[in-house]
Amino acid sequence: MFERVDYYAGDPILGLVDKFVADSNPNKVNLGIGIYYDEDSKLPVLECVKTAEQRIADPISPRPYLPMAGLPGHRLACQNLLFGQDAAVLQEKRVATIATLGGSGALKVGAEFIHEWFPASKCYVSDPTWSNHIAIFEGSDVEVGTYPYYDTATSSIKFDEMLAFIAKLNKHDVVLLHPCCHNPTGMDLTHAQWDELLDIMKQHELIAFMDIAYQGFGQDMDHDAYAIRKAVALGLPVFVSNSFSKNLSLYGERVGGLSVVCPTAEEAERVFGQLNYAVRRIYTSPPSHGGRVVDIVMNDEALHQQWVGEVYGMRDRIKAMRLKLKSVLEANVPVRNFDYITKQNGMFSFTGLTPKQIERLQTEFGVYIVSNSRMCMAGLNVNNVDYVANAMAEVLKD
Ligand code: PMP
Repeated sequence: MFERVDYYAGDPILGLVDKFVADSNPNKVNLGIGIYYDEDSKLPVLECVKTAEQRIADPISPRPYLPMAGLPGHRLACQNLLFGQDAAVLQEKRVATIATLGGSGALKVGAEFIHEWFPASKCYVSDPTWSNHIAIFEGSDVEVGTYPYYDTATSSIKFDEMLAFIAKLNKHDVVLLHPCCHNPTGMDLTHAQWDELLDIMKQHELIAFMDIAYQGFGQDMDHDAYAIRKAVALGLPVFVSNSFSKNLSLYGERVGGLSVVCPTAEEAERVFGQLNYAVRRIYTSPPSHGGRVVDIVMNDEALHQQWVGEVYGMRDRIKAMRLKLKSVLEANVPVRNFDYITKQNGMFSFTGLTPKQIERLQTEFGVYIVSNSRMCMAGLNVNNVDYVANAMAEVLKD
């Protein structure tokens, strides 16, 4: 009966985790999946989250269904973080926000909305991008194309090519952008480049879909949201999918949000209704635990401050690992330029290693990176960074 069901080869990034677990090399290092590990290679539980968990646990409370859009405090938390507290667009009630199952859930509901209400729109993603972007939009029957973004040969952004390409898109096409900490390259546009790009998108009446999964890991909370706020200021239609997986270290709770910025409050209300309806058709309502943690941490002044400090601590540890990795590589492979390592932001570094070098890293050294050469810097620590740098240097000498 199910013989004709296609075989699923598995996700390339998640599959790498299984391979890593099975590897018996005592020195193995997992730099594949985008997860932040602390100095002791442990997944951290943030202090602000511990406090929130204690408040939730005592007294243990009933668990009703949440509204389709999630908890109001979760939705407010997304809005304040993305658009800035007291932003005019929030006071004017022009943003429709729902809580979602992680950033992935936000992308899915957003893709369903685009398919339903902008059926002629194509969605353009950066080349390269997080591969699930393509899968999610195609899964909602939205046609996906790519725009030029990264030049591996020079480790830089092909900005002029990108602009020229985007200027040729059709009205209401969707351009999926990473406001900060681009996945997988770690290379972000400068503020001046964002200004130029968003101006062109405004002229051509394009839709900005901003996917922000690493807010706080780039420069700071506000700097990382620059592109979103600029697009709003220009009056572009903006979708924002945000994830709390990394910056609250709540991967398994599946917490995120989808916000749609509309020209008027009346339109925002209609859009909000349709987002609710989309949720109803897919999973009815989000789970409550993670949403309650988000609500407590983000809306309590003291816990919020603590959270910001904890995110910056993670950001700074990654930056220190970048410096260390770069210095060991420079000492060992002086003919190559490793400036890209410290120019890139967030969790990832696009190393430009060849498939053969990536294979050698894995089989000879137990160092796992993604097949497109993406390395997760957040898996490095003082105990393994030298080992990884030396392994990289070894395969680069080939
Ligand atoms: N967007 C990007 C760019 C990501 O890197 C990720 C996570 N890898 C997501 C969205 C999805 O986030 P979540 O895990 O919260 O679904």
